[in-house]
Amino acid sequence: MQVGILGGGQLGRMLALAGYPLGVRCVVYDPSPDACAGEVAPLLCAPYDAADSLERFALGKQVITYEFENVPVETARQLERYAPVRPTPRALELFQDRLLEKQFLQEVGIPTPAFAPVDLDNPAGALEQVGCPCVVKARRGGYDGKGQAVAQTHGDYFRAVAQRGSQPLIAEAFVPFERELSVVGVRGSNGETRVYPLVQNHHHEGILRLSVAPAPNSDALLPTAYDYIQRLTHALGYVGVIALEMFQVGEQLLANEVAPRVHNSGHWTIEGAHTSQFENHLRAILNLPLGSTAARGVSAMVNLIGEVPDIGAILRIEGAHLHLYGKSPRRGRKLGHITLCADDHASLRKRLALLISRASLPVPLDDTRC
Ligand code: AMP
Repeated sequence: MQVGILGGGQLGRMLALAGYPLGVRCVVYDPSPDACAGEVAPLLCAPYDAADSLERFALGKQVITYEFENVPVETARQLERYAPVRPTPRALELFQDRLLEKQFLQEVGIPTPAFAPVDLDNPAGALEQVGCPCVVKARRGGYDGKGQAVAQTHGDYFRAVAQRGSQPLIAEAFVPFERELSVVGVRGSNGETRVYPLVQNHHHEGILRLSVAPAPNSDALLPTAYDYIQRLTHALGYVGVIALEMFQVGEQLLANEVAPRVHNSGHWTIEGAHTSQFENHLRAILNLPLGSTAARGVSAMVNLIGEVPDIGAILRIEGAHLHLYGKSPRRGRKLGHITLCADDHASLRKRLALLISRASLPVPLDDTRC
């Protein structure tokens, strides 16, 4: 079985690695010759609009998938001539634009923070709708908090809009959330849908640093998260893994962002769940039965950003699993992650404290984390 993956970053790399035991051979397509998935799978290096390279890439593939949502929609649509593209290119189109994404969430009945498109000729209109404080975000291309600014005052808002020039923007009400949660789900081609336990996420400078799974005290919220994943995937005839980032406010879950792909907050599933998100994505898009999404014990996933700490010190910690992506260090770059596994939250907390101090990670630990 051969799968083509658009995008050759760490997600493509982990998908390719998950394919080996299943006898699935992945080939990745990326415009960069340094794409890190190229270390573990054949890499076809060409621009996303090179028709002849895309055709060569698609030949002999059972299915084509993508590992990040900023692949041009046209590329995915073009590939549909040769092989099924899963998830559907429509998901790319919707979720690479924050306005279309929020409108779609609203259409399928999933609550979101109040939002409005910013009309650059009349920016006051959006401010009237969402109020202050608010968050100004680029509609496209923003990830890991890039391209966005929190506006506490009307002055901040107009400055943030002016600083972003002519790029299309969206304004959102600022949500004073209790915590950030995400749910990773998977839908098979027969419509069967499963979700992993909810994950609690901690960001620093807009980048995910720590995920704890299952999120403490989250069992009562799981049916709502499952309902959201069903609404999203059913409406799109979606096949594959999907992730939804949410804010918890009281008992309510507000949707922030959808990723039509495997997700950073699902990396813990490699060691921490019965079937990893990567394997389940491949199973789904290849019409194979889905695997169990149940957790084995509890896990914490810590991203390694910008530099790799002393590997020996990390591996001496009981239950620690290291994943390096083969990328050269650069400020703000995700170079790898560590998953810590334990039987219960109390021992996970101890291991996490050890990891954070040994590896000098910028993840402040407090009692609410796990
Ligand atoms: P995003 O790029 O939309 O995932 O945003 C990155 C981070 O900014 C989120 O994980 C939140 O911590 C924060 N954030 C984004 N939108 C809002 C919002 N409407 N209210 C409060 N915080 C937000």
